[in-house]
Amino acid sequence: MQTTLADFIKGTSEGNEAEAILRACVHCGFCTATCPTYQVLGDELDGPRGRIYLIKQMLEGQPVSGKTQTHLDRCLTCRSCESTCPSGVQYGRLLDIGRKVVEEKVSRPLGERLKRYVLKQVLPRRVLFNTALTAGQLFQPLLSKKLQDKIPSMQRAGHWPSQQHPRKMLALAGCVQPAMAPNINSATARVLDTLGVQLIEAPKAGCCGAVRHHLNAQEEALDDARRNIDAWWPLIESVEAIVMTASGCGTQVKDYGHLLAHDAAYAGKAQTISAMTRDLSEVMPQFEAQLVEKLAGKIRRRVAYHPPCSLQHGQQVRGKVEGLLTAIGVDVQLCADSHLCCGSAGTYSLLQPEMALELRDRKLAKLAETNSDSIVTANIGCQAHLQSGTETPVTHWIELIDRALK
Ligand code: SF4
Ligand code: SF4
Repeated sequence: MQTTLADFIKGTSEGNEAEAILRACVHCGFCTATCPTYQVLGDELDGPRGRIYLIKQMLEGQPVSGKTQTHLDRCLTCRSCESTCPSGVQYGRLLDIGRKVVEEKVSRPLGERLKRYVLKQVLPRRVLFNTALTAGQLFQPLLSKKLQDKIPSMQRAGHWPSQQHPRKMLALAGCVQPAMAPNINSATARVLDTLGVQLIEAPKAGCCGAVRHHLNAQEEALDDARRNIDAWWPLIESVEAIVMTASGCGTQVKDYGHLLAHDAAYAGKAQTISAMTRDLSEVMPQFEAQLVEKLAGKIRRRVAYHPPCSLQHGQQVRGKVEGLLTAIGVDVQLCADSHLCCGSAGTYSLLQPEMALELRDRKLAKLAETNSDSIVTANIGCQAHLQSGTETPVTHWIELIDRALK
């Protein structure tokens, strides 16, 4: 698509990047068919091609209104459109640029600004979020049904193994996951311990930056990235990989190299960190033979697997969880339309609750068609969002292996 950038962005690194992305788009519309928001709303401007057009107009200097902002806000950033696009259009990067510009040009109503500010301050801070969640759990019966559904029940982390191993990997504790599902990382540590690998965490590392990135606080998201790089750097030579147990975080950390490419002090380190980062499902296949030996025939269950968008579209990692679970004897089911988002999408479920609930219920209906007795996934956001709408247990897939190893 031929684009004539307006003076405010022409010649900047973001302008150049946006121009290259827009040039790659041939406006064919293949992406529209696999866009969840287009499927629900049926409006071209709530699909990728329409949003790309809105961003193009904005970057060409045409007037921007709250209408443009609404259509961009409604995007889940699920990047299903990127998986479909035959021209390799990097829609997610273009959206980041578009959202940044629209934020500068269109002011949000006070209530919305306040909501975004609170989310930006509370979610990434482990202590604050933990306190808020504990209060919510204690006073759950007094809350509205809508809020009750959003609050997960209290979960205990199992023990973290103390055994030292020469092989070490680094895990990210993250921000909301330790409070909402503390067992995920400890289950990962126990499984890896059984396989001769020690999992360690860096206490000073925190939110990966995805929460603030989703809220369009892009500079603050970069500060989160820098803090994690500083926390991990002293450990980097002693570990084989940086393992992500939440695919949303993995997508963000794998992007540090790109996000900090213009920061002279961090660009090199960020590239190294991104190159060392693996989703847990990328790490585990090397242990398949050991797991088959230990577990063959022990898990006779039908389980539905929900692949998070951040894994299948954001990281383009597919088939690994299903492959490993199938190898150890689990009957793994992917539901129909498994490429579609469940509606969680970072802070989306809090900012666009109607669309998020519609997509959740559509996803749960498809998952129910698999007749499975539990659902597993690979991202805390999807896990909590799906669990809020079903009695069927939703857990991280590593917990299934952890329980079987016991
Ligand atoms: S983003 Fe890709 S699939 Fe969508 S209209 Fe452009 S070229 Fe076609
Ligand atoms: S990222 Fe997802 S919701 Fe947004 S335009 Fe692409 S497919 Fe649609």
